[in-house]
Amino acid sequence: MPLGEFDVIARYFSRVSSRSDVLLGVGDDAALLLPPAGQALVAATDTLVEGRHFLPGTPAAAIGHQALAVNLSDLAAMGAEPAWALLSLSMPGPDEGWLAEFARGLYELADTHGVALVGGDTVSGPLVVTIEVLGFVPPAQALRRAGARPGDLVFVSGSPGVAAAGLDQLRSGQETFESMDPRVRRFLRAEPRLALGRALRGVATSAMDVSDGLLGDLGKLARASGVGARIDLERLPVAPELLGHAATERERYVLHGGDDYELLFTLPPAASARVSDLALKGGCGLHCIGEMVAGAGLECRRGGQRVEIVGSGYDHFAR
Ligand code: ADP
Ligand code: MG
Repeated sequence: MPLGEFDVIARYFSRVSSRSDVLLGVGDDAALLLPPAGQALVAATDTLVEGRHFLPGTPAAAIGHQALAVNLSDLAAMGAEPAWALLSLSMPGPDEGWLAEFARGLYELADTHGVALVGGDTVSGPLVVTIEVLGFVPPAQALRRAGARPGDLVFVSGSPGVAAAGLDQLRSGQETFESMDPRVRRFLRAEPRLALGRALRGVATSAMDVSDGLLGDLGKLARASGVGARIDLERLPVAPELLGHAATERERYVLHGGDDYELLFTLPPAASARVSDLALKGGCGLHCIGEMVAGAGLECRRGGQRVEIVGSGYDHFAR
C-alpha cells in the first residue's frame, strides 16, 4: 500500500521540536508560535521547481538542503536569527526512499541552525518545493538593500562562482551528483551565511545575498540605495576551486554565477578596521571589491580603466 498524504506527514515531517517558542507545531490546522517581545518578525519564502532550480536526478537530500538553504540565506541577508519553517511539498507520488532522504537533508540543515519545521502542505503534482522561513531581528538593526552611501566599500563573502562552476560540471556530464569535487559539493550544499549576517547588524549600511550573480545583484543593491557602484575586477576573489578554469571563464563565474549564497554588503570606510573581526565572527573570508559612488549604474574597472562587461544575472522571465 502506498503511503497516503497523512502518513507522509506523520512519518517524515512531524518531528517534535525542542524550541520552547513553538506552542503548537505540525498536526493542527496551523502552528502557534511565540515571537520574542520587541523583535521584528522576518519572513521569506522561496520555491524550487524541478528542471528550473535543480536538475532532474538531483539527490533528494540535496534538494531538502537547498530548499531550506536559499530561504535561510534571505534571513542571513537581513541580519536575522532564523526560528521556524513551513514546507509545501508537491510531488508525483509518495516515494519513501526519496522522502526519507529529502527529510534528512532538510532536517540536517535545520538542526544546524536551530530551525523548527512547524507546518506545511503536502499535495500531489509535479515536484515543487516551497519553504517559508520566519526569524527575528531587532527592528533598528535589520540589514536592508537600501542604505549604501557614496564612499562605502563593497564587500563579498567567501568564494562566489564556485557553485556555478559545479553546476556546469554536472550539466556537461563531467561530474556526477555523487562526485566529491568541491565545486559540485558547493553547488549541492551551499551554506547560508547566517553568522555573518548577524555580525553585520548595526555595522553594514546595506546587504543582500547573492543568488542571481554578483554583478546583477550589486546592481539591485545600488538601485535600492539610490547610488551607483564601481567594481575593480582585479580585486575579485578567486577561489582555489576555480584555478583550473581559464581566466575569462573564472571571471564569468565570479561575476555572474548564482547558487553560492554569499553575502554582498557595504561598510562605511570607518568600519574597515573591523573587517577581520567580522570575518572571524562570520566564519568566512571577506573581500573588498569596490566602492559605492554618487550617481547610478555599475562601472567595472581593470587596472583603473573602465571596461564593459557583457552578460547579466539570472531573470526567470527574461528571454
Ligand atoms: P489542513 O487541511 O488543515 O491544511 P493538512 O492536512 O494540510 O491540514 O496538514 C495537517 C498538518 O500537517 C498541518 O499542521 C500542516 O501544517 C502539517 N503539514 C502538512 N504537510 C506538511 C509538510 N510537508 N511539512 C510539514 N508539515 C506539514
Ligand atoms: Mg493543507
